[in-house]
Amino acid sequence: MLHDERIEQILYKCNRCGSCQQVCPVYDVLGVESGLARGKIRLVKALRHGELELTRDIAKKLDICLQCKRCTANCPGGAEGDTLIRWGRTESQKKLGVSPVYSLIARILLPRRWIFNTGLAMGKIGQKVIFRPGPNGQGMLPRIPFGLDMRRVIPSLAAQTLKQRLPEVNTVDKPLQRVVYFTGCMANYCYPQVGEALVQVLNHNGVEVIIPKLQHCCGMPVFASGDIKFARLMARENIKVLAEIKADAIVVSCGSCGLALKEHYPELFADDPAMQRKAQEIAARVKDVTEVLTALDYQKGAGTVNEKVTYHDPCHLKNGLKVSEQPRQILKNIPGINYIENEHGRCCGSGGSFSLKHYDLSTKITDRCLQELAATGAEIVATGCLACRMQLEDGIAQQGLNLKVRHTVELLAAAYRAAAG
Ligand code: SF4
Ligand code: SF4
Repeated sequence: MLHDERIEQILYKCNRCGSCQQVCPVYDVLGVESGLARGKIRLVKALRHGELELTRDIAKKLDICLQCKRCTANCPGGAEGDTLIRWGRTESQKKLGVSPVYSLIARILLPRRWIFNTGLAMGKIGQKVIFRPGPNGQGMLPRIPFGLDMRRVIPSLAAQTLKQRLPEVNTVDKPLQRVVYFTGCMANYCYPQVGEALVQVLNHNGVEVIIPKLQHCCGMPVFASGDIKFARLMARENIKVLAEIKADAIVVSCGSCGLALKEHYPELFADDPAMQRKAQEIAARVKDVTEVLTALDYQKGAGTVNEKVTYHDPCHLKNGLKVSEQPRQILKNIPGINYIENEHGRCCGSGGSFSLKHYDLSTKITDRCLQELAATGAEIVATGCLACRMQLEDGIAQQGLNLKVRHTVELLAAAYRAAAG
């Protein structure tokens, strides 16, 4: 179905029941109808029917959404609030244009692999000049205002990227499976230890892991802002790279990358059947690393990891890839881990570029999420999305909490290392 027909179809699915009030992190903090999917869908309807003119004020309202998919996952009518809001953003970009900063980052830097890689390589050299150490030595803080909020703690760029640290083919004797690892930017540039842990645990369980050097950013920030043309450009490049490699699965360590590959790539090519077929073929093979492990009957008995651990559900992993049980299963099976469930499971407030544009609102959402995570008494928050990790680590540093954030596979890799002595 063409994108426009689909939008028209899901537009009428909202019955105004208000169930999305219970789950929307923006509504939770702001408490206004325009923060909510129901209010935003009403705006989108009015825009489509010509009852309202698209003004900067309306565009701003549509911009205040994390694209977390909580409304969509919990909507009894099947209204897909996040998709409808993105349609509004696309219209707003067409009619009102984009800022020069957005244009530089999303249309010049991000879609061109070599400019992006060169920029980050230079950033690695210059990061000590433009950043200073964060509170208690955690992460770094900007020294000068250049688009990042001056209070924001971010992880430093790793001295060596994951792709520099590991070969393209990470094989084992008589592999049971062969998977492609779509690393995403965060694991490649900021948290390569997560990618190394992923390769270790998959290799340990007889899985060969290919890390294609030519893969690029999944394009999620561009897609979420409604910039279809540039999101397609980025998707096309990744589809080409991934389609060329024969593998049983395309594995991710980040819920947002997984959602981009699994759901958004096919949606982006709704008017191009040949490309859509390729995107669908890739989407069908996308799996979170915890899905691959649990489907494999991975090795559970291992060394001891004596830690109190809770789990944070990344919105895109839970509501997009429908993965929430598998990481819990893995954590509970690690010997020594005292697993404490966080019953509330709020959004962390990241929302990709949302936290860059709306830092105050995003940190209010983070604070609520962290309060609940800290109340479990855990010392480690495990999660399956590195954007969530960055957001939570910022909040932890701001609040001086005694919490660490780790990817689930890092804890499993620690258990395997402990067993090896
Ligand atoms: S978007 Fe869904 S949950 Fe929200 S008011 Fe409409 S029907 Fe109800
Ligand atoms: S996608 Fe998330 S932030 Fe946006 S309206 Fe839905 S629940 Fe609220």
